Amino acid sequence: MDKMEQWFGTGEGFPWEEKEILRYLGHRGQEIPENVKQLIGECQRELENAAAARSVCAEYPLAIQDHVIDMGVLQTKSRNLEKNLRDCGRILIFGATLGSRVDVLLKRYGQLSVSRAVVLQAASAAMLETYCDYCNEAWREEYQKKGWYLRPRFSPGYGDFPLECQKEIFAVLELSKRIGVTLTDSLLMAPSKSVTAVIGLSKKPGTCSVQGCEACGKISCEYRR
Ligand code: SF4
Repeated sequence: MDKMEQWFGTGEGFPWEEKEILRYLGHRGQEIPENVKQLIGECQRELENAAAARSVCAEYPLAIQDHVIDMGVLQTKSRNLEKNLRDCGRILIFGATLGSRVDVLLKRYGQLSVSRAVVLQAASAAMLETYCDYCNEAWREEYQKKGWYLRPRFSPGYGDFPLECQKEIFAVLELSKRIGVTLTDSLLMAPSKSVTAVIGLSKKPGTCSVQGCEACGKISCEYRR
C-alpha cells in the first residue's frame, strides 16, 4: 500500500487541512469562487501523485545552563527556544521533506501558470505541515507511554533560534543521505518543501497542540513561544 500507508492509515487520499491551504493563500473569510475551488482540487491531486513524504528523527540529551542550550550534538543560545524547552530533559531533532518531484511541479507551473503555481505553493506548504503533524502525533503517543511529554516543534530561524544551527542538524541526521535533502550555502533547503525542527521532551505532564502554540488556547502557558 505505502504512500504513507495510504495517507496515514485511512486507505484514502491525503488528509488535507483545507483551512491551512486557504491560510497560506491569505484567505480572509471571503466567498471562494468555484474556479479557485476547482484549481485547489486539481493541485491537491497533482501533489498526491508527486509527493514522497519522508522524515528522520533522533533523540538526544538536553541541558540548559547560563542560557546555553546543549543538545549534545548541538549547542546554541536562543531566549525563545530556551523558554519553550524549560523543564525538558531530552530533545528530538527531526527533518522531513515532500521530495524533489514537488519542486519539479512548482518550477514547471512557475513558468506556465502563475495562479496554479501560487496554489501549488500554498497546498504543498500545507501538505508538509500536515505530514509533520502526523509524525509529531506518532512520536507524542510513543513517548507519552514512556512518561515523556512533547513540546511543540521549533524550527531554526523561528524567533531567535539561529538558522545556522541547520548545519549541525544536517550533519547529525545525515539528511542528504537519508531523505535526500541538502542545504545551500545560504542555508536554504533543497527540495524546497523540507523542514527541520527540535521538539523538547519533558517529564512534566502537559498536552501541547501538535499544531504549536499559535493553535493552542493556553495563553498563560509558561512555555508559550
Ligand atoms: S502554549 Fe500550548 S502548545 Fe505552547 S507550550 Fe504551552 S501548552 Fe504547549
